[in-house]
Amino acid sequence: MKSGWMFALAACAVLAGPAVPGRKAPADPAPPAAEVLAPLPGGNPVRIRVVFKQGVLVQAEGLPRGFLPGGPPSGDWAGFRELSPEGKRWALAALFPKDTWGKDKVAHRVRWPQLESPWLMASLFMGHGQNYDRLQAANPSNPEKLLAGDLWTIPRVLLSEDLGGETPVQVKAGPREAGLDDEARMTSFRGMLTFEQDKQGKYAAYHIRKGEALYSSVVMRYTDQVDPQGVNELALAIARRSGISDVRGIQPGTLVKIPLEALASPFQPEGTVALAEEREVRAEVRRTPRVTSGPRLKGIRIVLDAGHGGIDKGAMANGVWESDYVFDIAMRVRRLLQGTQATVSCTIDYPGLGFSTRDRIQAPTSQAEILTHPPFANDGESPIAVSVHLRWVLANHLFADFDRTGDPQKTLFISFHADSLHPSARGTMVYVPGAVGVPAAFALPAARTVRVQELGDGSRVRFSPRQRLQGEARSRLFAESLLKALQAEGIPTHENRPIRNVVLRGGKSFIPAVIRYSTAATKVLMEVLNLTNREDAANLQDPAFREQYARAVVKGIQAFYRK
Ligand SMILES: [Zn+2]
Repeated sequence: MKSGWMFALAACAVLAGPAVPGRKAPADPAPPAAEVLAPLPGGNPVRIRVVFKQGVLVQAEGLPRGFLPGGPPSGDWAGFRELSPEGKRWALAALFPKDTWGKDKVAHRVRWPQLESPWLMASLFMGHGQNYDRLQAANPSNPEKLLAGDLWTIPRVLLSEDLGGETPVQVKAGPREAGLDDEARMTSFRGMLTFEQDKQGKYAAYHIRKGEALYSSVVMRYTDQVDPQGVNELALAIARRSGISDVRGIQPGTLVKIPLEALASPFQPEGTVALAEEREVRAEVRRTPRVTSGPRLKGIRIVLDAGHGGIDKGAMANGVWESDYVFDIAMRVRRLLQGTQATVSCTIDYPGLGFSTRDRIQAPTSQAEILTHPPFANDGESPIAVSVHLRWVLANHLFADFDRTGDPQKTLFISFHADSLHPSARGTMVYVPGAVGVPAAFALPAARTVRVQELGDGSRVRFSPRQRLQGEARSRLFAESLLKALQAEGIPTHENRPIRNVVLRGGKSFIPAVIRYSTAATKVLMEVLNLTNREDAANLQDPAFREQYARAVVKGIQAFYRK
């Protein structure tokens, strides 16, 4: 089995001259060093140095944030220990392209006998040089003096934890990927995969880390699968292919084989269309300028949509149902936004309740209406799809009105929902309209509508390629702002991939219609939490949580439009 990081090394030389910049004493001869030029995934190459008795140093400039979880180093070079697990894998693959990473061991070929030592190997592969005695014990017949091409075997159990083994790494305590922004997180997750092949075809290899489970850390992170049945089926299929018999008792370091076709776009192999599209969106996110509001959100046009309602209660689990609870959160957001200068509308109200909030929700409210002219009752007379379509038709109508006097870049659409995912998932997930899945044009078939004024020409939408790209990029930036605000309040957010641009259910992938056809500059669908998760369901029943949640959403909006 070969390492998937198949980088061509552009340069490689053993340097005799001054190797480490900043060394002060010129009288002191520079230690021997070797240097390689290592290509980065999707970026320019950076230099990696092996310095005698000093270890491995990586040129910091140009290094992706996902490789340096602690932030940029103080100097020009980062130490090997400062790299994330994926950064380490990348550096090792670049330094030692002849090494092979197998299921049970790493076979290391000595490349620079004058620089390498059991201590250095232990520090690179086993977390610390002090583990060199265990390395020597595992290679009893190897000579003390290293020669180029010598084979050293590092059993997987001896590898450091962050390389998929069991040797603890003594590093500064800190969150793994939690503190990273979305792009850095995805880079980091991606870096932990290698692409391999077996009799059944190509797959992405992942080594389970301590505390991780197949459902949450593999399927829900690396694929778009989220619904309980889909997650279970895929987890079992992956377990079978990987030779894992006990899905619940997987040891750290276990190799997991993820079929390529199941991988979400950010994790597809180099050279695939899906990965190219993903990178195009990420580039757009980076160059998207901020849109700022006047004081207290002045000049911002917001439409709030609470999913379901009336005959449609939405998802149900653990004694709670979606409609009334997400409506209450949306109404709390509305009330808080009324204390700002933003212009706010809702797509739906509950007759008898209007837009009011409630601390006690006892039973599903039977009536709800979409606020078109005339209002459309969600009473089951027409298919639920009609009510869904009328939401974006209404919102687009409101945005078109606003665009005549205001700035179209300052329009925001938020739809509130709650999910019924695999019970291991919890917290908020935000869906944005994936640029690839938004159509160039769409006209609502007459048969799927009813007569309301807003339909006029509001049942047709058109999106240029540029608009689709910008729609996803801006919505992603907003989603990050929302998640940051929620996290600051201690509100759970999905641990692996809280921002997604496609829903995969029952083998079908789609973008929810309310954001797919929305003409707002920024549009998201928030799955507030996961009803099948007990703690999440308990949170939703607590009015204090719903208020706290609404406050965090408003803070996220304010942060997004802040100067
Ligand atoms: Zn829903």
